Amino acid sequence: MHKNQVVLLGTKGGPAIRPGTRMPTSILVQLDGQTILVDAGLGVSRGICDAGVALTDLDAIVITHLHSDHYLELGALFHTAWTAGLNRPIPVIGPLGLDRYWASFQQAMEFDISLRLRDEGRPDFAPLANIQVIEPGQMQLGPLTMDVLRNAHPPIEDSFALRLTGQDHCVVLSGDTAPIPEMVDFAKDADLLVHEAMLSAGIDALCARVGNGDDRLRHHLERSHSPADQVGRIATQAGVKRLALNHLVPCDDPDFTETDWRAETCREWSGPLFIGTDGLTISLDQKETL
Ligand SMILES: [Zn+2]
Ligand SMILES: [Zn+2]
Repeated sequence: MHKNQVVLLGTKGGPAIRPGTRMPTSILVQLDGQTILVDAGLGVSRGICDAGVALTDLDAIVITHLHSDHYLELGALFHTAWTAGLNRPIPVIGPLGLDRYWASFQQAMEFDISLRLRDEGRPDFAPLANIQVIEPGQMQLGPLTMDVLRNAHPPIEDSFALRLTGQDHCVVLSGDTAPIPEMVDFAKDADLLVHEAMLSAGIDALCARVGNGDDRLRHHLERSHSPADQVGRIATQAGVKRLALNHLVPCDDPDFTETDWRAETCREWSGPLFIGTDGLTISLDQKETL
């Protein structure tokens, strides 16, 4: 019997990593025998293997938007899967522009790719990614239904939340977004909502530490991401069964711990809550309550 579960491979918001930090965003959804990767941030290949999944076993990849912390490792993931034996196309559903990234990646790696084709007799590399443009609405991923909602992540227009529905389970992933009222309906009664979250109290320290001397970083965070208490409110209004926070901002600041995230989120939420950590596996078959 297959497991129905969500594995948070990388839970850090933003692209930078430092000694001891978590990795940027990737999520593995395993539902009804399908293994869907959502986003491919730095570290995704290692994360998939650490979750016990072969790189050659992905059924589809969805990229929620083209911020680098969500697709920086996509090309490297395919290249590594190729050297691990991938020999069939994997659908990659993402925003317009991904096709250019894929072509440029192959160009950048042309020496190595053509060498391995000749020298090791590997299959053609280009067809391995079957790139399709993501659009709001509904589509099928094998036996799963995927609903796509445009979220609010300015200045990026093509940024999406996903709702994956299988036979008995339903998972909603917010993507990177400011709090939007549409999320309440979109996430209605889901078994699990994985929502990005920001701890407002930590933003001052973050901006002081890595800001560029003006308020552009703060402005971006405040208009494009979701404070944890508002995430709690959305989860409550949507009536989801469980809530997990990921894409944490700030992340790995020792002044802000899981206790702070819980306190802020639980101002508006009283159900089971997971604070994302890299590799955290949330079973949809067992109803843990953390
Ligand atoms: Zn992001
Ligand atoms: Zn983003």
